[in-house]
Amino acid sequence: MSELQGLRAMVTGGASGIGLATAQLLAARGADVAVLDLDPGELPKPLHGFTADVGDDAGVRAAVAAAVAALGGLDILVNNAGIGATGTVADNPDSEWHRVLNINVLGVVRTTRAALPHLRASSNAAIVNICSIAATAGLPQRALYSASKGAVLSLTLAMAADHVREGIRVNCVNPGTVDTPWVGRLLDAAADPGAERAALNARQPHGRLVRPDEVAAAVAYLAGPLAGSTTGTTLAVDGGMAGLRLRPR
Ligand code: NAD
Repeated sequence: MSELQGLRAMVTGGASGIGLATAQLLAARGADVAVLDLDPGELPKPLHGFTADVGDDAGVRAAVAAAVAALGGLDILVNNAGIGATGTVADNPDSEWHRVLNINVLGVVRTTRAALPHLRASSNAAIVNICSIAATAGLPQRALYSASKGAVLSLTLAMAADHVREGIRVNCVNPGTVDTPWVGRLLDAAADPGAERAALNARQPHGRLVRPDEVAAAVAYLAGPLAGSTTGTTLAVDGGMAGLRLRPR
């Protein structure tokens, strides 16, 4: 498939997990892809790596400028970089709220702000934000993370409204629990990783973790010209977690 042939894409947090799977799929479908990451490391070919912390405005502006120069423009932005947080509202001090919101929410704002002038020059301009079912599901022990992803969901709608007349589409993807290094780290930290993995599998209505390439496929669709009439939407890739009301097994 080469429906993204000739398009130029940028994926934040693209050196691991969902971001890496997305960058690779966009490239496989013909896009020229830049990855912005805290640590791009050794990326598979043909991805271009740029070091950037989405929590730092000057660094983001410099990295976006460098990536756009290397790609010769920009058509697709995937705001994927994000970090986790656990606990109730009673558990995290203000400093932790500032740290996580600065990356998960302001990271989307500042990368988009730096990318917008370039996207305006594209005839297939698309932004895809990686949100989470945590934005809408009411998960326990995830107050800060859920609030950060709720903000990304609201931002997606507001950005879609603000930029639709400029020809820039903005959508988001809400994954359930995805089998990435992030989740691997959570499992490694559990007292019984095997039992924890089984519990996570059972929590998904379809009985298993979501695969990163399944999230990537949703992003690639929303980023491409076949989604040219789709903006301001959320695509759940969650095995039915958010949408289904099932009886217990
Ligand atoms: P991951 O930890 O495997 O990969 C995250 C990548 O982002 C890493 O390469 C990391 O270096 C980079 N990164 C982190 N902070 C950054 C920063 N400040 N600036 C630039 N890069 C940074 O994580 P993942 O599981 O692939 O998650 C990716 C996104 O998907 C996140 O936004 C996360 O909230 C979201 N998400 C994940 C899951 C899941 O179950 N894994 C579920 C729903 C949503």
